[in-house]
Amino acid sequence: MAILRVEQLGKSYRSGGRELPVLQNISFTLNAGDTFAIVGPSGSGKTTLLGLCAGLDAATTGSVELNGIRLERLSEDERAQVRNQHVGFIFQNFQLIPTLTALENVMVPLELRGEKQADKRALELLERVGLHNRHHHYPTQLSGGEQQRVALARAFSNQPKILFADEPTGNLDAETSEKVVNLLFELNREQGTTLVLVTHDLELAGKTQRLIRVKGGQVISDSVMAESGSRL
Ligand code: ADP
Repeated sequence: MAILRVEQLGKSYRSGGRELPVLQNISFTLNAGDTFAIVGPSGSGKTTLLGLCAGLDAATTGSVELNGIRLERLSEDERAQVRNQHVGFIFQNFQLIPTLTALENVMVPLELRGEKQADKRALELLERVGLHNRHHHYPTQLSGGEQQRVALARAFSNQPKILFADEPTGNLDAETSEKVVNLLFELNREQGTTLVLVTHDLELAGKTQRLIRVKGGQVISDSVMAESGSRL
């Protein structure tokens, strides 16, 4: 079953009175429960593409259908609702709220959704990522890997069907990065969460079932992992 359908997607930014095309004619369909990597040189449009797929931003042309919902027909507020209900997102620089503790950061989306026992549920999520004993720490008191795991707990608070991650290991050392990657794939295996990862890390990209290469705002290749472990 398709969870994400992208058709003829295009995005331009307005800069100095001119339209600057960043993505053109992007089309692909991702099946629920699978794992995907989007790779490509810096500036090729990967982050923009991820943001459009996750409903963080609106496309200039074309369509994105996320879990059966056509995002281009929605207002900004409606897109935010879809994100809250269906999507998890993690960023390279974690984007935790610095004035809140780890626990409070994870509680924010739970409270927004009116969850009654947000603190209990947030603690369970922190336990899941191995950080329950750090729940009163503020982001600056946590290492990069710990902050990314808090971000992961927060992203998983709504049990998303699909998780988008922009360079999730970009700021982490090799050992910490392995822990975060293992957690991501564990959640995929156990909960069937679709993973869409933008990454420079070829080892991480190699673990996914499908690899989409982007260059100059276009998809230049789309390959599926064969049973043998090599790309078809
Ligand atoms: P990547 O993630 O592959 O490095 P991005 O999607 O971040 O690429 O950026 C693609 C291009 O779009 C770059 O040239 C970048 O400067 C431009 N860009 C990204 N966001 C904006 C924006 N908000 N306004 C104008 N140009 C942007």
